[in-house]
Formats: sequence, C-alpha cells, structure tokens
Amino acid sequence: MKYMTTRGGETVSAERAIVQGLGADGGLFVPESFPQVTKYDLRDMAALNYNERAVRILERFLTGFSREQLRGMINAAYARFDDHGVAPLRELPGGVHVMELYHGPTLAFKDVALTLLPHLLTASARAVGENREVLILVATSGDTGKAALSGFADVPGTRCAVFYPNGGVSEAQRLQMVTQRGDNVAVMAVNGNFDDAQTGVKRIFSDREAAKAFADRGVVLSSANSINWGRLVPQIVYYFSAYCDLLAKGTIAPEEKINICVPTGNFGNILAAYYAERMGLPVNRLICASNRNNVLSDFIRTGRYDARRAFYQTTSPSMDILISSNLERLLFELSGRDAAAVSGWMKSLKETGEYEIGSDALNKLHGLMSGGWASDEDCAEEIGRVWNENGYLIDPHTAVAMKVLRDYRAETGDEHVCVTASTASPFKFGRAVSAALHMPVDADDFTLCARLADKTGLQVPASIAALPTLPVRHNTVCAPEDMLKTLMAKLEK
Ligand SMILES: *Cc1c(COP(=O)(O)O)cnc(C)c1O
Repeated sequence: MKYMTTRGGETVSAERAIVQGLGADGGLFVPESFPQVTKYDLRDMAALNYNERAVRILERFLTGFSREQLRGMINAAYARFDDHGVAPLRELPGGVHVMELYHGPTLAFKDVALTLLPHLLTASARAVGENREVLILVATSGDTGKAALSGFADVPGTRCAVFYPNGGVSEAQRLQMVTQRGDNVAVMAVNGNFDDAQTGVKRIFSDREAAKAFADRGVVLSSANSINWGRLVPQIVYYFSAYCDLLAKGTIAPEEKINICVPTGNFGNILAAYYAERMGLPVNRLICASNRNNVLSDFIRTGRYDARRAFYQTTSPSMDILISSNLERLLFELSGRDAAAVSGWMKSLKETGEYEIGSDALNKLHGLMSGGWASDEDCAEEIGRVWNENGYLIDPHTAVAMKVLRDYRAETGDEHVCVTASTASPFKFGRAVSAALHMPVDADDFTLCARLADKTGLQVPASIAALPTLPVRHNTVCAPEDMLKTLMAKLEK
C-alpha cells in the first residue's frame, strides 16, 4: 500500500508517511486506495479480541510490517489500557451504544493512537534508514499533548515538544502536561488559542531556515497530531471493533447498517469512521457533533467553510478549534481525488479564511454526513439527563455528541443503532461536570473530582488524583510568533 498527498504530491510508503508526518507540499498523506473488509471478514473478526482486530486492520494499511511485528507493537501499546476491551461499549436505552475510548493512560481517546505511534514511528524510522533524532512537534487543544508526552517520554531516538493554549485547557489537562517526566520532553504554553498553536507548528514545519537549523543539529521533524497517518489508522480499528461487538452480541444482524456519532474538533476521529465506511463497514450515517465553535456544522449544511468568526472557550476545550486540519482528507475524497481543487480550497482558506466547495461535492457530503452543534448549556443539561436517567456519567465532549444525536433523531426519526464516541473521562473535566450536576464548584478541580466520586460511586482515576502532588516541571510561556525561538532554546539544553 502506497500513500499520496491530498495536494498531488509524492507517492511514498506508509513508513515514510509516518516518519514525515506531513507531505513536502503541505498536503496530507492518504492511502492510494481503501483496502476492503468483507462481511465474512467482519464475521471472523467478531470472534477476535480487540488487539487481534487491530492486527487485521493495520496489516491492510501498513504493508511494510509483518503480522508478527504489528501484533507485538499492538500488544505493547494496549497493555497500558485499564480495560482489556480497549474500547468497550456501554449500552443505553434506545439503541445508543457509547464507545468508551478513554481507558488509556491519559484518559482520553488520543491514547488509542498515541500509545501505538511511538512503536510505529521508531520502527518506520528504522525501515526508511532514518538515523537522526526524530523531534515530534505537537499542537494540542488539551488531550493530544499529554497522550503524546506519555507515549514518547524517554523513547530512545525521539524528542517530543508540545505547545498548548495558555488558559485554554482544563486544570487536569494542564497539570497532566506540566508535570510530565522524561529527559526528552518539552511543554510550552502559547499565549493564544489552539488555532494559533497549530498554525505556529505548521509554520515551523515549513520554515526553511528552521529546517536547516534542525538538520545541523541532526534532528528531523515529525508530527503526532492527527495529520500523521500513524494517528489515524489505529482510530479506524475501534469502529470496526464496535461493529464486531454488536454483531457478537446479536444486537445487530450481519450487514445491518449503523450510525456513528462523533464529537469533533480537528476532524480526525470522524474521518477515521468515514475511512472505515469506505473499507466496507456498514454505515448508514455519520453524525458530526460540534460545540459552539460550530464551523463544521455550518460547513456541512452549506458547503461553505468560514473560519472568520469569533473563537469561543467552551466546557469542551478539546474541540475549541476553527481550522479542522483533517477535513482536507475528506475534501480530497468528496472532490473525486482532485488535488488541484483541494489545493485551491486550502490556499483560499489560508489567504481569505474561507472556501466553498461545489454542489457535486456538497451532495456527496449530504449523502454521508449530518452535522449539529451543542452549546455549553445544552451540554450541561445532557450530562445531567444522562446521569439522572441512566446513572451514567459522561464528560462534556461526549455530552456534545449525545445532545447532537438526540436532536438528529428527533428531527429525522432515524433510529438506526448508533455508536457514539465517548472521548474522555469525566474526571478530566471535574469542574464542568460538577456544575452540570448542580454541585457546588467552590473548590479546586481535585476536591470537585473527589466529591463527584462520592456522589456517583465511581473512583477518581489514580492518575488524576495524584496530579496535585506532582512537581511542576514545565513553566515556559511564549507568544505565538516566538514558538520557533522558544523551541530552539529548549533544544540547546
Ligand atoms: C481531540 C478530542 C476531540 C476531537 O477529536 P478530533 O479528532 O480532533 O475531531 C473530542 N473530544 C476529546 C476529549 C478530545 O480530546
């Protein structure tokens, strides 16, 4: 399997795509074709555990590795999860199945890919003969940063540098990052929002002088954001796995179509669901859920992407994003793989902050996906409702998806069995969740989490409970325009 870029660039191996992260033309790597999974494959996979299902999906894309190699990497990665199912389903009334993606070491779905990526990346670097140190640059809206730090800490031959929006993440998310141990990690707060951090990281990637400075130091850059193919491919697995679980339980019949609802920011997670559908997963509809930064739900309705709007800080900070990088990969498919059209739209986005796709592409989009959004108030109400009706505690990102699904069902009457991605532990967002349950919020986040545990009978995850006792190791703050300079100073040390 070879990879091309969304802007018509070079064709490379999966290993090269993973090491490089981003195409030299600024485009994103995409597979040349979508390997197929038949109904017989699905039936066979239903009898396997999560890790073996992952082997079956990954080997179709990462053809440079043997099945044994992949199995070794997958088993090592998911041994760090607290649930052997990795992505267990929890059934709620009405055919809603919540897929809990937060059982990894940092309690958000990013772990599913980022526990595996260090293995994939180091093996890929070896395979392409890359002997230089690989510097992983990360812009995070809150969860990717910690998951990348946790995955790459002290991995030989790598360094990991994370930029997060100062004041734009939850207290638990911030402490998770600034207390990270490891000799090869750096964490920097940027005085700006996630889009500023992401734009700054992209600028570092394309800065020629920086490239030379890195080369002089024997360093090569890569990315752990979902622009990296190595991030996306492990995320395809859990949609197949959820389907297999539903088949195995007899909840659905073979070939029965399901809906999938995903709380969306950078469009990586829902793109993985779309790729699963292209590979043959029986999907009726994808439902793209946004928070008040609803640029995507407007786009899905109108075909016009307009990022020139106010940026809001919400109670679902990991989705506070106006430039959804991975949408480019969907546009590539919607346009019939027209690299020139995609390049034009991306140029327009960069220069004017907007673009508009044609009616052909928009019709295709409407055949595939619905979009909706939920305000902070909606989301708080949803957390309360799901707790009161089902005794089930969800985080604000998951609540956005649950609310958008509820609206979608009310509007359309579409009652297909639905898998909803639950992307983070509620204890990462103790303040917002406590407020949603009308509990007092007159204390620090950790006291609130302890009270939440008392009320719900759940346990505060140990990694969250320990945060206030850990020493802060990273306290650098920089302006968006100083990200490169700040990073270089870190590398000197
Ligand atoms: C990253 C994240 C999202 C958004 O995922 P994308 O792949 O960026 O669309 C949603 N919820 C949580 C908790 C996240 O960490």
